[in-house]
Amino acid sequence: MFIGHHSVAFAVKSETNKIPLWVLFVAVQLLDFLWAPFVLLGIEKMRMVPGITATNSLDLYYMPYTHSLVGALFWSGLACVLYRVGWGRKASSAAALLVGFAVFSHWLLDLIVHRPDLAIYDDTLKVGFGLWNYRGLEFVLEIAILIGGVILYLKRNSSVARKAGTITFGLVLILVQAGNTFVGRPPPSDRAFAITALIFYTLFAGVAFLLEKRPGKVERLT
Ligand SMILES: [Zn+2]
Repeated sequence: MFIGHHSVAFAVKSETNKIPLWVLFVAVQLLDFLWAPFVLLGIEKMRMVPGITATNSLDLYYMPYTHSLVGALFWSGLACVLYRVGWGRKASSAAALLVGFAVFSHWLLDLIVHRPDLAIYDDTLKVGFGLWNYRGLEFVLEIAILIGGVILYLKRNSSVARKAGTITFGLVLILVQAGNTFVGRPPPSDRAFAITALIFYTLFAGVAFLLEKRPGKVERLT
């Protein structure tokens, strides 16, 4: 799963919970934000095996810390606590739970598309429903849930300052997914793939931050 993860960020945000969209963008990809440096440091491992699924060449054969069920629950709980404690008075317990849920949603969505490479704990009992073997279907799922998330976001946040910007961002995400699914070539190495993922996820979170930045605050120098 790639951009489909961000559908959860859009869907969760409301005027009640007031969780910044960029925080949710980091939350839904937190497991991958951790996974990339873990791969770069050799703590978790993957390799490129062309044809391993119809959609990509990812043989994610060792990622017990970020993508096991127990690991995902741990990071979700930690994110929940950190948001509650670290975000000041604005962070209600309900909002903190939603941040934890956003982190865990990554594992649930990965479960649908991955080969059986997601361990229940440590490196054992691996699960994955393998939707990556059905390229068109997987693409439709990514796009459908993203569109659903964006629609919910626009409905539940009537004061969204940049509606057109949000829709444009959604369209860009769809284009990125289309490029990734149908045009993109497999990255030359595990390191290249990890770095590319980090760059994209950081860029997306940056755009999410800009989308919710209040407009019209012009500084005067007089
Ligand atoms: Zn992942």
